[in-house]
Amino acid sequence: MEVGTSYFGVRDVRHVVDDLERFDDEGLNAVLHTFSERDKYFYEETMAEIVAASNDRGFTTYVNPWGVGKVFGGEAFSEFLAKHPDSRQQTVTGERQHGACINDPEFRAAMREWTEAAAGLNPDVLFWDEPHWLIPDWFYDGQPDDAWVCRCSHCREKYETQHGRPMPAREDETIRRFREDSLLEFLSEMMELAAQEDVRNAVCLVPETDAEHGIRNWDRLAADEHLDTLSTDPYWEPSDVDDVEKFVAETTAHVVTLAEEYDLQSQIWIQGFGLSDEPKSYDNVETATRTAIEGGADSVFMWGWDGCRAISSIASENPDTVWQTYIDAAGE
Ligand SMILES: [Zn+2]
Repeated sequence: MEVGTSYFGVRDVRHVVDDLERFDDEGLNAVLHTFSERDKYFYEETMAEIVAASNDRGFTTYVNPWGVGKVFGGEAFSEFLAKHPDSRQQTVTGERQHGACINDPEFRAAMREWTEAAAGLNPDVLFWDEPHWLIPDWFYDGQPDDAWVCRCSHCREKYETQHGRPMPAREDETIRRFREDSLLEFLSEMMELAAQEDVRNAVCLVPETDAEHGIRNWDRLAADEHLDTLSTDPYWEPSDVDDVEKFVAETTAHVVTLAEEYDLQSQIWIQGFGLSDEPKSYDNVETATRTAIEGGADSVFMWGWDGCRAISSIASENPDTVWQTYIDAAGE
């Protein structure tokens, strides 16, 4: 079984090697390296060394588009948005929002470039983390209650081609379907590029299956010929969940069932960030890890390494105990 962690914030390969050797001692056999726009611009060769150091030590290596275009999850800024303000998602009033439009040709070209660079680092897997359209809760202030994205010229043109009529101004079922279709088509294009470079693909969806988050029917993603691993991240605190065992058991069952049906690997992420220093937090980490493993997940990862000790904005209060709890639960 695969047991791993995400890893970020260290770009000195000598320090990385120290951490990798400790992870190996702690029983991990997989590591995900974040590869943000900043990493791509400034650290590409360094990242190749970091991935090579991980490969050399027998880890299964993952690389993800950390915050790229703010279409993917991650604590990273996007230079793409600054350089291409007209490629951002647009509301019905014409205001641009703080995420790239998945249907924008410039963004697609930038993502193809990212994918080729990421595959060039020589990882085993590209990890497409929480691909999403912006949800209305995140919009800038002053937007009407029924605001939605995206109604940019590229989306309108594509919608009209597909539907034979102009895109409506009010969000309806056809819009929700259009967003889902666009996201699936985008992922498929990027995964095909990775597959051509002999790199496997994992997609991690947030556990919500509503229209706002993008992909309601996970079967449609699971059926993609270039997908290898179906992943989800049942982080109980952001989802405001009390019964962690039930939540993780249900999301694990969803992913494991689909993975079996479509001959994929299943993967579950364990919350290691933002946890308070109280017994319940460690119980939850232990319960979530055990539940994912008992539920038949092929791969379990924690976000992120050492309980996010090295990233203060999301660090757990006692990160070392969070980490040790995960290591112990995964090793049982
Ligand atoms: Zn658009």
